[in-house]
Amino acid sequence: MNVGRGSGIASRVAADRHREDDTMNVRIAIAAAATVAAASTLAAPTAAAPDDPATLAAPDIDVAAVQAHLDALQQIADENGGNRATGTTGYRASVDYVTEQLETAGYTVTEQPFDTFGGESYNITAELAGADPSRVVMLGGHLDSVDAGAGINDNGSGSAGELATALAFAEANPNPSVTVRFAWWGAEEQGLLGSSHYVDSLDAAELDRIDVYLNFDMIGSPNGGYFVYDGDDAVEGTFNEFLATRDIQTAPTTVGGRSDHAAFEDAGVPIGGLFTGAEGTKTEEEAQLWGGTAGEPYDPCYHSECDTTANIDPTMLDNMSDAMSYTVWSLTAPETLDDAA
Ligand SMILES: [Zn+2]
Repeated sequence: MNVGRGSGIASRVAADRHREDDTMNVRIAIAAAATVAAASTLAAPTAAAPDDPATLAAPDIDVAAVQAHLDALQQIADENGGNRATGTTGYRASVDYVTEQLETAGYTVTEQPFDTFGGESYNITAELAGADPSRVVMLGGHLDSVDAGAGINDNGSGSAGELATALAFAEANPNPSVTVRFAWWGAEEQGLLGSSHYVDSLDAAELDRIDVYLNFDMIGSPNGGYFVYDGDDAVEGTFNEFLATRDIQTAPTTVGGRSDHAAFEDAGVPIGGLFTGAEGTKTEEEAQLWGGTAGEPYDPCYHSECDTTANIDPTMLDNMSDAMSYTVWSLTAPETLDDAA
């Protein structure tokens, strides 16, 4: 999560524009409706027919796997001067770690270099190619930390949840109906540079292929809240629907221009995402709803040295990682494609 100054208004205007995109809303609304039926399969995954991915439940993301990735990122920071900031050996090692994990699972990883204020950085992307080449469901989160610490909640959490999801998807459904693309951004903390560069690098046809972009930046805050981006209504509904199966009530959040969804939103791509809070203060009402301490920050270690593996609520990380998996699964399920055609 970037400290963010400014670009919120432009993002809100873009979001309002998306709501008037009838085609997308209908398509996603169908996807959301389909997930109501899919929800029942979550309780009985063994009943699914193995040859029909449409009837398989979304992979449940093991929080221990997510935490193992966080341990690896912490170790990388420890071995590289205490942080994983853009331009450092800690960032390079973070990229190498994610790349190696993805390649072991069979992904081809693409590294995209771009210029930063102090040199060069890079994004990485990997995807499962879909049967329908015209549609891409994309996820992303930033992999860089600030230079003050290891950046485990910000944003090891989103990076690790996304990595665990990518690995689970490669195993569960390596041939999805629509393309599932995963991105890890560089230089978010310098002003969203990596994601902005990526969006700028796409021509109109490539941009048009992206049905939706989902952003995951800080999903394990230790005094956190269950916030869902106030973006595309039906994507929001799918996140909410999953979390409701765990008796979790969410709250909408306007992250504004403070993270990597902003470039996509400004380019007219429908967006969504999950967030558990940064330096903001938890209210009394939120503490009653979600537990934790009112009057204290959602993440007291935001952009600080204490953003370590101790700075994570594992239950929140688990629920948000599963919500990520469920929503991506729902948006890429074959019945979504058939019904929308
Ligand atoms: Zn940040």
